Amino acid sequence: MNNISFTEKKVIIFDLDGTIVNLIVDWMALKENLVEKYREIYKEQCDFKRISICLEKIVEKNDENILENFFGVIRHYELENIRDTQLIEETIFFIKSKELFGVKNNAKFAILSLNVRDTIIQALVLANIHDKIELIIGREDVRKWKPAPEGLIKIQNYFKIKKEEMVYFGDLENDLLTGENAGIDAYLIDDLINLVKKRNL
Ligand SMILES: [Mg+2]
Repeated sequence: MNNISFTEKKVIIFDLDGTIVNLIVDWMALKENLVEKYREIYKEQCDFKRISICLEKIVEKNDENILENFFGVIRHYELENIRDTQLIEETIFFIKSKELFGVKNNAKFAILSLNVRDTIIQALVLANIHDKIELIIGREDVRKWKPAPEGLIKIQNYFKIKKEEMVYFGDLENDLLTGENAGIDAYLIDDLINLVKKRNL
């Protein structure tokens, strides 16, 4: 990672939670709510340990309205404490000062996150970088979620660029796996944070 060169990158993509900000969400309460709702509707159990897996079952059933309804529940819980969102200063500094890191002036930033769009937008506004993000792919924008490659491919198609002109940063193994599945370089955000820290020492 230390020798990563940004000069050839046209689009730099970030996850949101744990990468640009730390959201304060009661995930336990959210999942309990989703489990209950799922059981009521389908008379069967889905444990929502990973929300995406249960949402994919709803996609398989072709229940778009119910899916929207579940997005609404997720939105409610994600936005509940949005004002308490903690900022990850190093990532935000990188985005605001990209030229210091060899990022081309015309390079773009995008977000690929499992959070809903409203959460992403509000978090970016809080971080004061909303105007620096060209494209947001949130929970509602795909029907196969990370680590499926769909989100990254959507971003590639939007910008009409080559995979080697993209790079993805996230905080989880799942993010690295997403990159791998899409054939796009992915790194842990800690690597970038260390790069920023080193520069600012
Ligand atoms: Mg994350």
